[in-house]
Amino acid sequence: MYMRECRAAGVSATQFGIPFRVFVVCLLNDVDPYGPPGLHYSSVVMVNPFVTTEEGSQIDCEGCLSFPGIKVQVERPQTIGMTWNDMDGGHHYGIFANDNARVIMHEYDHLQGIVFLDHVESLESFTQQAPRY
Ligand SMILES: [Zn+2]
Repeated sequence: MYMRECRAAGVSATQFGIPFRVFVVCLLNDVDPYGPPGLHYSSVVMVNPFVTTEEGSQIDCEGCLSFPGIKVQVERPQTIGMTWNDMDGGHHYGIFANDNARVIMHEYDHLQGIVFLDHVESLESFTQQAPRY
């Protein structure tokens, strides 16, 4: 997965100035006990996504391609329900949890004009990143 290789988990059209309600996310697949070992991801394009339910909460570190080098602790729902269309107009519904819910909510926020820094309430939320050489 190109996005995972870049340590990105999603990107929205609005980040490129494209005024469409669409994003692509790289989601961690459920573990298949009979499948090959390791983590497996799938890219999902969500057109006209809509969050139908939010449950629980989780706090973890997030970054954003639009804000390189910045990482902050962001609270997100633990589980979300979503409806969306695919690129062919097919309608889908899904429930996503943990990191997948976080990735989707981050991109969904972009479509609402919200960025992850809007969730920061204090400077303690910022995390230091070690420089890479
Ligand atoms: Zn972002």
